[in-house]
Amino acid sequence: MARIAKVVVEIAVDKEFDYLIPERLQADIKVGSQVVVPFGRSEARGYVVGLADSSDRADLKEIRDRVGKKALVEQNILDLARWMADYYVAPVERAVRTVLPSAVRKKGAGYKERLMVLPTEMATDEMAVEKLRQKAAKQAASLDVLLSGKQMFLHHLAKAAGTTAGTIRSLEQKGFVQIGRSPVRRDPLDNQSVLRTEPLELMSQQADALKLIQTSIDTGQPPVVLLYGVTGSGKTEVYLQAIQHALSKGKGAIVLVPEISLTPQTLERFRGRFGEGVAVLHSSLGEGERHDEWHRVHEGKAQIVIGARSALFAPVKNLGLIVVDEEHEPSYKQEEAPRYNARDVAVMRGHMDKCAVVLGSATPSVESFHNAGRGKYGIARLPHRVDHRKMPVMHIVDMRIEAEREGRVNVFSRDLVEAIRKRLERSEQIILFLNRRGYATSLVCPKCGYVAQCDQCSVAMTYHRQTEELVCHICAARRKVPSRCPNAECRDPAFRFAGFGTQRVEAVIAKVFPHAKVQRMDSDTTTRKGSHRIILGDFRTGKIDILVGTQMIAKGLHFPNVTLVGVLFADMSLHMPDFRAGERTFQLLTQVAGRAGRGEVTGEVIVQTFTPFHPAVQAARRLDYEGFYAQEIEFRRELSYPPFSHLVCLTLKGMSEERVSFSGEAFLKELQPRLPKSVVVAGPAPAPLARAKGEYRYQIILRAPSTRSISDPLRALLRDFRWPEGVTCAVDVDAVSLM
Ligand code: ADP
Ligand code: ZN
Repeated sequence: MARIAKVVVEIAVDKEFDYLIPERLQADIKVGSQVVVPFGRSEARGYVVGLADSSDRADLKEIRDRVGKKALVEQNILDLARWMADYYVAPVERAVRTVLPSAVRKKGAGYKERLMVLPTEMATDEMAVEKLRQKAAKQAASLDVLLSGKQMFLHHLAKAAGTTAGTIRSLEQKGFVQIGRSPVRRDPLDNQSVLRTEPLELMSQQADALKLIQTSIDTGQPPVVLLYGVTGSGKTEVYLQAIQHALSKGKGAIVLVPEISLTPQTLERFRGRFGEGVAVLHSSLGEGERHDEWHRVHEGKAQIVIGARSALFAPVKNLGLIVVDEEHEPSYKQEEAPRYNARDVAVMRGHMDKCAVVLGSATPSVESFHNAGRGKYGIARLPHRVDHRKMPVMHIVDMRIEAEREGRVNVFSRDLVEAIRKRLERSEQIILFLNRRGYATSLVCPKCGYVAQCDQCSVAMTYHRQTEELVCHICAARRKVPSRCPNAECRDPAFRFAGFGTQRVEAVIAKVFPHAKVQRMDSDTTTRKGSHRIILGDFRTGKIDILVGTQMIAKGLHFPNVTLVGVLFADMSLHMPDFRAGERTFQLLTQVAGRAGRGEVTGEVIVQTFTPFHPAVQAARRLDYEGFYAQEIEFRRELSYPPFSHLVCLTLKGMSEERVSFSGEAFLKELQPRLPKSVVVAGPAPAPLARAKGEYRYQIILRAPSTRSISDPLRALLRDFRWPEGVTCAVDVDAVSLM
């Protein structure tokens, strides 16, 4: 029996520590167990990430205790976490934390405190409650709190009512409430009844795709299938039937969707087919919901998990299939350590767990399409929309000509105004897309050219009209709009707003189409839980004519009555200082266009741009992914960008610019001799976002044919290198954002 446990402690230390397993805990300590260990002069919580018979060290301390009965992380997930820590050059304990959902990890969210309080019939007996109110006000008040919802956790209720568990226990003794250990599950779908659906008869290309995936599930070949299907081609139906196949073999499945496209609509499709067998995991669930869903999976009550990025680590038993929908989405990349890409880790989990992986997209990432091209992945194509409905027609409006004619830059071109008018007359719906919230993108003094900038970040502040504030979209700092130019030498009162955001679009529509019902959907209007669902519900039922929104509305939504999509400013993503700018623009335009004409009427897309001849815009207009890819891959090959190289981005941050730039030079000086010749180095140089939240940012970008050739020497140096005080270094392997 193993005597030594390798423990990763919750305090951020990039190390595994060896501890002795005391005799009394021998039977209970497993890999994945949560434990309390002596640490420094106090104690710490940690996880057992490995067991061993011996240790290099002699002076080992003993594990003090174990928390909870069950191991929370299975060996396979821990192996995956270790791989992530290694590949992404991140602390092991950060990786282990990542694979454990916080609701489970948190103190007090375990099984033993799952005491749920439910009101009994007596709680609605007014006479009885009145009596209680006179004799025990505290108890009555607690009861009121409870009755404002359906049920509550004991500790939540006590906290909300400002009392102790004892008060609630008294309520139980008097018969007003019941306290149960096995409470009703908190269902992310609110126990809505969902219509059961049956598998559809597949179109022939869907059937071919399904066959390829089934073969992958059954034989392991090909290990990864790229499902390249235009929007509305029935990819989801293929996923559903592939999952069905996995279930029939006694296997489970994980479906990853980008956070923003995890709409109730998406969920309903899976619930409709598989009912209670589906668990949902994503960050906007309540803590309780997440806890319950996670445990339903852990206990094997749900075999299918659908969720955002971190759902990949769900403890699905006997995993047969992982689906990564919209695999090209940048949001699969986590922007804090470990900076992993869930799509790539999914491929790794598939490899380690010997399960099939399906990557689905209408606009596959250049990396994945390249992998399919060279035979590493299998590929299935769905080139047509279901029932051969027509793809939308895309018109490009040259805003340079428009601006010249009008003498200024309007929010809407004439063509777009006309097109909107037509749709409103026919009671059809419209989506307008602009990836920028707020009213104006900056506040500019026309006299001296002063631009209102954030004090802490190197960006202009956005004007939000509802609150009459300037807001920094990087650090969320707010300030009142100044009444005159803050430049002491100027002080001109004629401030002007430049650029436009979704609020301004909303305001212009109200002027031009006073009778249209407009709703804005961006992160300003959807802060409240459930507001997404309400807005989309209103749009579906026709209470809204025009939906204006940011990228939140670009994906996955399916509204048959939308016949016009307007892209107000397509150039925004083109001008990102990033080699993927063209790819992003192509993807975005294609995705947005996919929202038009999902019903009987052929959809129209109007794209306003100042660079109408950019290849990405033109390829999107022709709906020509492969044409775009052919051009893009040549560009990448010539410049040795991914997929022809791996890219590691180091971002150094600190309040003192001098220290940041100096330590960047010093670090690189030590790193460079350790790197093989094949590594191309750029920097250190100020990052495109040169300053954020007060910190200066410098980047070093490394490229090489293999990640290892960079990450091995990098990891070794990071272990020894002493950063000057106040300077930190973030490592991003296979970086997606280069800001
Ligand atoms: P995608 O995921 O590729 O965007 P969906 O799976 O959402 O496409 O399919 C678009 C629509 O077509 C959905 O309403 C879906 O129910 C329907 N559909 C998919 N496959 C079939 C089929 N074989 N027969 C009839 N309708 C289908
Ligand atoms: Zn700021």
